[in-house]
Amino acid sequence: MAEALEIRDLCVAVAGKEILRKFSLTIRPGEVHALMGPNGSGKSTLAYTLMGHPGYKVTCGEVWYKGQNILNLPPDERSQMGIFLAFQYPVSIPGVSVANFLRTALNARRRARGEGDGNGQTSKPKSISIPEFRKLMREKMKLLQIDESFAGRYVNEGFSGGEKKRVEILQMAMLQPEMAILDETDSGLDIDALRQVSEGINRLMGPHMGVLLITHYQRLLDYIKPHFVHVLLSGRVVESGGPDFAKELEVRGYDWIRAKYGEPLKDEE
Ligand code: ADP
Ligand code: MG
Repeated sequence: MAEALEIRDLCVAVAGKEILRKFSLTIRPGEVHALMGPNGSGKSTLAYTLMGHPGYKVTCGEVWYKGQNILNLPPDERSQMGIFLAFQYPVSIPGVSVANFLRTALNARRRARGEGDGNGQTSKPKSISIPEFRKLMREKMKLLQIDESFAGRYVNEGFSGGEKKRVEILQMAMLQPEMAILDETDSGLDIDALRQVSEGINRLMGPHMGVLLITHYQRLLDYIKPHFVHVLLSGRVVESGGPDFAKELEVRGYDWIRAKYGEPLKDEE
């Protein structure tokens, strides 16, 4: 059943430094939330913490999803619950083709959920058959306008920034998450790649999926319309607004928010 992701008073320390301080946010199915904020404000820290990266130490708070505090669960179980993270910096996996990578991910999901075993009586869930997998992958590649030759290439090896992001979106299409966290999906993309990636994301969104769209820049939000826009500063959400708030941020930058909340001004933006 589709349910909300509830982040309550989350505190996270990285390398002994407190980054998130009582961060709270609730994302309901069908809602798109944009999380913006200056570089170094802790956006990726939030994304990694939600997926259970061991380097990010939770010192207070809870994250509830489908009746559980997911902070107690290992990353694979969070993924099996339907949470998906597209990384800011996708890694290469030399020697593993995109098709194999996707099939492995899909089978892990089926095993964890006990799917694919027909009547539910047999003890072992079946892996997805190759023809069935190929059909599904072709269908998703078509939907996202990704060339079929990608299937045989090694994951992210020699991929352009835009290609890496599109393969992440393909992975999302195959896994059909209910809660998608997209960390700076726009970073490093030229305007055409940005449009293609955004169109792909838009095609996957629906009433059953919650989306946390992490972005430093407003331009992604020209293509993907958020319902809510939040600003992260000093480890918590300090300002929130509707879709137009992103435009205001683009014009005014973040310094007025820093001034309002007593943060030292920086000239990085
Ligand atoms: P954002 O994504 O908003 O740019 P990050 O979450 O990446 O911000 O970083 C927040 C802060 O945490 C920064 O000061 C950064 O230097 C620090 N930080 C993040 N990851 C690590 C790490 N692995 N080791 C040390 N410091 C880190
Ligand atoms: Mg980041």
